[in-house]
Amino acid sequence: MAETVNNDKIIVGSEEWCAFPDLGIPAIKARVDTGAKTSSIHAFNIQKFRRQGQSWVSFEIHPLQNNRSTVIRCEKPIVDKRVVKSSSGIGETRYVILAHLRMGQSVWKVELTLANRDSMGFRMLLGREAMSQRLVVDPSLSFCQGEVHEQELDEFYGKKEPSKTGLKIGLLASNPDLYSNQRILEAGDERGHEMEFLDIKQCYMKLDATEPEAHYRGGKLLGDLDAVVTRIRPSVTFYGCALTRQFESMGVLTANSSSAITQSRDKLFSLQLMVKHGIRVPTTGFAKSPIDTSDLVDMVGGAPLVVKLLEGTQGRGVVLAETRKAAESVINAFKSLRANLLVQEFIKEADGKDLRCFVIDGKVVASIQREAAPGEFRANIHQGGSASVVKITPEERTLAVKAAKTLGLTIAGVDIIRSKVGPLLLEVNSSPGLEGIETATGKDIAGLMIASIEKKLGWKRDLAIKDPTYSDPDA
Ligand code: ADP
Repeated sequence: MAETVNNDKIIVGSEEWCAFPDLGIPAIKARVDTGAKTSSIHAFNIQKFRRQGQSWVSFEIHPLQNNRSTVIRCEKPIVDKRVVKSSSGIGETRYVILAHLRMGQSVWKVELTLANRDSMGFRMLLGREAMSQRLVVDPSLSFCQGEVHEQELDEFYGKKEPSKTGLKIGLLASNPDLYSNQRILEAGDERGHEMEFLDIKQCYMKLDATEPEAHYRGGKLLGDLDAVVTRIRPSVTFYGCALTRQFESMGVLTANSSSAITQSRDKLFSLQLMVKHGIRVPTTGFAKSPIDTSDLVDMVGGAPLVVKLLEGTQGRGVVLAETRKAAESVINAFKSLRANLLVQEFIKEADGKDLRCFVIDGKVVASIQREAAPGEFRANIHQGGSASVVKITPEERTLAVKAAKTLGLTIAGVDIIRSKVGPLLLEVNSSPGLEGIETATGKDIAGLMIASIEKKLGWKRDLAIKDPTYSDPDA
């Protein structure tokens, strides 16, 4: 029985079940939050588009807490845009939509902002504006307007394990526990695909001109994959690329091609290719065992300069030499290790910052600025640095897209440094990590990677069936 007070206002507790019939959401648990002005709903894949001269937005909702496999896809006209400050102080523009909210027996129209972040695990926050003149809050209570039981949720949304009608996608990588790998598996799962983690070292292959094969631990034949996402760590580049090539010869779509990965892993070749295609990089020299260390230093304009080991990753093997003497001794030390090394003009004005642009299918889908820890010159989030959302310039966007294209990468993390002569390319990563960029931007990059595969294979997912008894006045 729904509780009421003053005949017209209804009593709500600190959490309540709501429904949005015109969004196709029969039940969503909301945190009743008198501290928030506007109500918000946790949305993914938020995309603006135009329909009949009006701005609309499409988005996806995971209506159930701790469940990312139930997805409702929605479309609504945009009624407003608002800048909301997150806890980290970064302003974020959110779209506002109007929707009918049903709680208990009442239905009324509310404004909802589309937030792309989890709010304390709740998929929805009910703010003051939506409560005004209708609700009275008793924070000591919960679900005053009715409980929704597990069984009803199953009926509303179908069983938690939906039958897989999607693609079969392999994730070729080394460690299933890494954030990026977890997210890719989760994103595929969520979109209805059958995801399979394939440990690179456990795969082996048969070369055959007509029937090439790939096998997995225990002799299992990997014969029916539609696509493979590769996340090859540098130490297994050689074997990982050979496997990727094998999948290609079996007619399996690979998210990044083997040839693109192979050439992007050769830093020297990549930079040569960039320069050849007119992409600007910091003045750079390469050497193996330079006899004339001093001339090598002069070649890039003298100290301060950066010395990098070609085999280094994640900022390891990148050294700043502030003086000529330091530069010469670092180079000589690397020389005695017989290491391939790169010397580069030091971009001081970058002030320990760089940009990471995530490119998918020739578009920058997200970008962050990484900042060095105090006293460090390298923007390295693995070594105490930080990352934040950044607005990149059209020139930087063009540079990122061109760099990925030059290497033939469908998916790439492009690192750019801001110098006094404009943006310069640092490097391109063919297995860019997702944690820093998804956390800072709140974007579902893993989902976009899977969406790119769906598009290439011409696969379309079923949209949620909205409540057939309800007609959307906005549609
Ligand atoms: P890795 O591939 O090991 O991450 P990078 O070449 O990307 O190595 O360099 C790591 C970090 O060092 C960059 O993110 C940037 O902050 C800094 N850095 C690299 N090259 C330069 C340079 N030429 N001038 C100034 N800072 C640099």
